[in-house]
Amino acid sequence: MAEKLTAVKGMNDILPPDSARWEWLEDKVRALMARYAYRNIRTPIVEPTALFVRGLGEVTDIVEKEMYSFEDRLNGEALTLRPENTAGVVRAVAEHSMLYDGGKRLYYMGPMFRHERPQRGRYRQFHQIGAEALGFPGAEVDAELILLADALWKELGLKDVRLELNSLGQPDERRQHRAALISYFETNADQLDEEAKRRLHSNPLRILDTKNPKMQALVEAAPRLIDFLGEASLAHFSSVKAILEANGIAYSINPRLVRGMDYYNLTVFEFITDSLGSQGTICGGGRYDYLIEQIGGKAAPAVGWALGVERVLELIREQGGAADLPVPDAYAIVPETSALPVVLKTLQALRALGVSVQMHAAAGAVADGMGSMKSQFKKADASGARFALIFGAAELAQGSVAVKPLRGEKVDAAQAQTLQPLATVALWAHSLRAGV
Ligand code: ATP
Ligand code: MG
Repeated sequence: MAEKLTAVKGMNDILPPDSARWEWLEDKVRALMARYAYRNIRTPIVEPTALFVRGLGEVTDIVEKEMYSFEDRLNGEALTLRPENTAGVVRAVAEHSMLYDGGKRLYYMGPMFRHERPQRGRYRQFHQIGAEALGFPGAEVDAELILLADALWKELGLKDVRLELNSLGQPDERRQHRAALISYFETNADQLDEEAKRRLHSNPLRILDTKNPKMQALVEAAPRLIDFLGEASLAHFSSVKAILEANGIAYSINPRLVRGMDYYNLTVFEFITDSLGSQGTICGGGRYDYLIEQIGGKAAPAVGWALGVERVLELIREQGGAADLPVPDAYAIVPETSALPVVLKTLQALRALGVSVQMHAAAGAVADGMGSMKSQFKKADASGARFALIFGAAELAQGSVAVKPLRGEKVDAAQAQTLQPLATVALWAHSLRAGV
């Protein structure tokens, strides 16, 4: 046998029955987004590397060390597998002048790629669902997005998710804070680790995000951005908070919440759980009013968030919540191969009526009849179907199909007396859909 090939480290196959939980989550998201009038957008998985370098910032974890970048073998173009989707959405919005007739509310779902150390809740291919509102400057849209995320947690039955909030102010306020921060860290240079020293002049704000326990006290006492915010920034922040309070959304202010990308301003937020260990942030976002301009579009305000699908599903599992696993309504039992033409025709009609049916099929390397009735009933039972449809010789000779409940339900005896298989199943399908 040839050497076995396996998936790339940190990139997972999502298999049934687990994939049903993904579909369940995606269905919930689609329905919820529709209720908030957010529309689906799908951008390419590969983008020019420059989009992320310019959009996310050169001195961010993602751009510095997490991107899957490569050169197009044929034309030498610098390309990158998207590590996030906000930059791609913004590029598409600018490229297609989508804001010419007003703001747009958009959402996406899909795989993202970051070269990180794989562990629970952290993968190299992972999936995000994101919502972005572009062209709206007001705090009401920041709040709408937070309410949308909160509604999603409720819809999914999640508990114990807390909201942390901060304001990053505007670029000139950040510059003043940055200068104060640099001089503070310079005065305490002996307490900085290597990474912090490297970041001191390139991205001192990211030092606040350090996970180094030896630097916590230093970081704790650093000048706070909130003290540098002007009136307009504070008013925007107050409006967001007032709307959340009016809606009963609990939050806590985390002055050290800075987020991993450079593009944020004003409101930033994260939804966090304590149930997933150190990978506890399930969703993060904020305002990014300067990103569109940054990547060459016409300036427009914007705000959005992205959630990690793997972490959300893990949290649901952790909290004992379960998505309904799909089961067919019926399993078709086929004692003789000679019945197959009638069986497939009948099942086609049944499916057209909206009934889900799993057909028994010969299994194994070589077809050798359909298998014993006993083994077929075993499979019918294992499928989780509510009913078995038995296409036996006796039934077919009479032009009928037997309907046998597998989960202790009752079926109308009249169903068995119908003359045509199609009529039998049509009648049965009708009663099934009527909830009998
Ligand atoms: P972290 O601090 O955990 O690395 P982040 O700040 O890099 O997260 P974002 O870029 O804000 O994360 O992405 C939004 C969400 O996507 C995160 O809150 C998380 O739920 C999820 N996420 C980010 N990176 C990964 C990954 N490598 N594997 C799985 N999920 C991820
Ligand atoms: Mg990260």
